[in-house]
Amino acid sequence: MTGSMEAATPPTKCTHCHQPMRSPVFCQNCRVINPVPPDTDYFTIFGLPRRYQLDEKELHKRFLNLTRDVHPDRFATSAPETINVTMRLAAQVNEAHEVLKDPVLRAEYLLQQAGGKRPSEEKGAPGGMLAEVMELREQIEEAVSRDDRTALEELRRRVNDMHAEVQETVASLAEAVADQPEAEDLQELRAYLNGIKYVRNLQDLLSDKV
Ligand SMILES: [Zn+2]
Repeated sequence: MTGSMEAATPPTKCTHCHQPMRSPVFCQNCRVINPVPPDTDYFTIFGLPRRYQLDEKELHKRFLNLTRDVHPDRFATSAPETINVTMRLAAQVNEAHEVLKDPVLRAEYLLQQAGGKRPSEEKGAPGGMLAEVMELREQIEEAVSRDDRTALEELRRRVNDMHAEVQETVASLAEAVADQPEAEDLQELRAYLNGIKYVRNLQDLLSDKV
């Protein structure tokens, strides 16, 4: 399952000066950029361990550094091929950051990498969750029609609690999937990631009402 990923493993040492690199994309020592395959693992790009739990401040710091290091403007006088490479790397760094900084996208990414199903292939949510979401939606609509601020405030608390609970389950499943993907965990994570969208829809429904 991971064979093709391993084949594309980028270097951890600079191919130019042979010093260890914090990111395979750029060598801090000789300041040489290193094109990595387009399918390079997002965690690898930032030199971070492939885990769901991630130090968001550290990710942000590394993102800012890399963005600056591979910025095409810094290579303005370089050969056109080099400028093309920096543009592609900058886009790769951006895309990796967009996904890793968002807990749900990060879990989805780990799921896809472990061979899990896409949302279009498996639409089911965890048992009971849909019924609960539908009931909350009805209550929200009723409270809106009565313009009942107190009820809406209470509903918002319930929806946020539900979101926190689902998020916690997503976190532990995603950690398991990143570590050692079991078929059961893949299925469950798919279901919870489908489910969290419904909860987020409820949050959206409430956000302009309360
Ligand atoms: Zn180097």
